[in-house]
Amino acid sequence: MQKIKEYRKNGFIEQRQKGYYALRIRTQAGNMTTGQLRKVTELADKYAKGQVHFTTRQSVEIPWVREKDYATIRRELKDAHLLSAVCGSRMRTIVACPGASVCRYGLVDTVSLAKKLDEIFVGRELPSKTKMGISGCANSCGKPQENDIGLQGVIQPILTEGCIGCGVCSMLCKAEAVKLENDEPVFTREKCIGCGRCMNICPERAIEAKHCGYNLYIGGKIGRFPQLGVKVVEGIDENEVVSYLEAVLQAYQKLAEKGERIAEVINRRGLESFKNEIANEMKKELAVI
Ligand code: SF4
Ligand code: SF4
Ligand code: SF4
Repeated sequence: MQKIKEYRKNGFIEQRQKGYYALRIRTQAGNMTTGQLRKVTELADKYAKGQVHFTTRQSVEIPWVREKDYATIRRELKDAHLLSAVCGSRMRTIVACPGASVCRYGLVDTVSLAKKLDEIFVGRELPSKTKMGISGCANSCGKPQENDIGLQGVIQPILTEGCIGCGVCSMLCKAEAVKLENDEPVFTREKCIGCGRCMNICPERAIEAKHCGYNLYIGGKIGRFPQLGVKVVEGIDENEVVSYLEAVLQAYQKLAEKGERIAEVINRRGLESFKNEIANEMKKELAVI
């Protein structure tokens, strides 16, 4: 069993066929170089059946690997700067959409953030498996609400100069958070979801982001008993994200019984109790509208 645990920790997952394993390789925000992709195909040809599988969490699996090749493959992965995925009660591969690196709706640099968070958190031992998803905007392609921990890029819009009173921002805001008054847009902060649409569609570029950051969600999961995560903090500065995540994980370690996911801790202890513990760790109140 100890050996199987060690294999799982390193993304070597036993198949239903005895003696065979699927080797799971993780990416950072779903990216690989072409050289790394070639290496993956080379490994699949050399040690397995020339087949790869793309997982739903931005990893690549090579099925039909034999146990005897475990150490050799791990060496080859390391030489190619490829990272093995992790299984078990740990922080798993972090999923992220392309964000502002290429997506025209992206408000934040999800790719750089995912890489940084991968290096700090992936593989950390926790009471149960813990998944993280990052999205560059409110469209939520990185599914922040379906993960134990989710981050979603948001802005706080503000009117600057050059508005011609065309009303396009007001017409296209689905949250009805901006209305024209005396030919000038007025924002209702409580309704605004920070999606940035008004800023992107203003023909005069008269709307800018007063503040850009991340909403933090906790407690999402899919599986047999799915539930959506809840927003616990709004508009975190990028340079504060790591501190908040450390606080969430400390609170989780403190409140969880062995094997409990964040959602289950929240269901048993209550959301307020979890939020208070995060706030204690951060030594400040959590800012949510
Ligand atoms: S969540 Fe937003 S930024 Fe990310 S891919 Fe979707 S639309 Fe683009
Ligand atoms: S879309 Fe731009 S120019 Fe038109 S009303 Fe809104 S802020 Fe003014
Ligand atoms: S950021 Fe989105 S929700 Fe907020 S006012 Fe603009 S369009 Fe509406």
